[in-house]
Amino acid sequence: MTTIEKIIAAIKEYDRIIIHRHQRPDPDAIGSQVGLAETLRHNFPDKEIYQVGGSVEGLEFLASMETIEDEKYQDALVIVTDTANSPRISDKRFSLGDKLIKIDHHPNDDPYGDIVWVNTKASSCSEMIADLAFDLDLELTSNAARLLYGGIVGDTGRFLYPATTSHTLRVAAKLIDHHFDATKLNREIEQISLKVAKLSGYLYQNLKVDENGAAQVVLSQEVMKKYDIVDSETSSLVPLPGVIDNVLAWGLFVEQPEGYYRVRLRSKGPVINELAKRHHGGGHPLASGANAHDDAEREEIYRELQAMCALYKQK
Ligand code: AMP
Repeated sequence: MTTIEKIIAAIKEYDRIIIHRHQRPDPDAIGSQVGLAETLRHNFPDKEIYQVGGSVEGLEFLASMETIEDEKYQDALVIVTDTANSPRISDKRFSLGDKLIKIDHHPNDDPYGDIVWVNTKASSCSEMIADLAFDLDLELTSNAARLLYGGIVGDTGRFLYPATTSHTLRVAAKLIDHHFDATKLNREIEQISLKVAKLSGYLYQNLKVDENGAAQVVLSQEVMKKYDIVDSETSSLVPLPGVIDNVLAWGLFVEQPEGYYRVRLRSKGPVINELAKRHHGGGHPLASGANAHDDAEREEIYRELQAMCALYKQK
């Protein structure tokens, strides 16, 4: 049996299916998770389907989560979407089910699950769920199509990043035929609050760029408080340095209330996920996340990024 055949056999076999995604969700996490949940609900009306994982932090326009009792995991199939490593799965009860499926598009560093379907060539996990639905001739509701389209738009930066393929565009074209308001959805994904807009002014004013295009900006707790911003509101700031012509790779270091830094790394060329892995993180070759315990580790990460940009420029 192929992996897809195993997945569909498991979906058919179980009466209860619980779908998880990663912590600090982005549109692809919610899009793939709830896009799958909606599709299964619509095509298998006799099954119990749940989407769980707690707060959706600013993505309420996409979907909301359900709260379920521990007992529901008994004899259940659990599917986790868009989550590379098991510690990042939101709601630790994912391991309480009878069978576990991982569906993801990140490098498969932690192949948790009884069935693992990883496609690192997919732009997004939402693209994979759309592939699954189209391959199996499952009917998509307009809301499921909206969720999957939103996930693709989110992870490709509106079809800008190199993970966007001709297949991504074909999938998006098929999804958009399902009569949802794509313009409204794009606006909802892109819109920012005035305070985040003001903080983006701070970001550009304080961005440090070296001669090889390695850039960094530090958002200290003091700055976050001044602009009245919490960590979950910083995601729209991450792509901003990328529009600057001589920026090659960059890090956004967001100080957390506990004192450590959440590090968000992006690149237009140098592969950065190994750097992220060395600092308690991981991710895609050109879009990764890490953590720095203190200022010394934060400075070390920037030095490593500078070295990578210097090396890349020499090639
Ligand atoms: P972010 O900067 O949080 O948008 O994350 C960018 C990419 O890196 C995403 O694909 C994440 O899955 C991955 N990533 C972020 N933080 C971590 C982490 N702590 N461990 C592993 N992967 C991460």
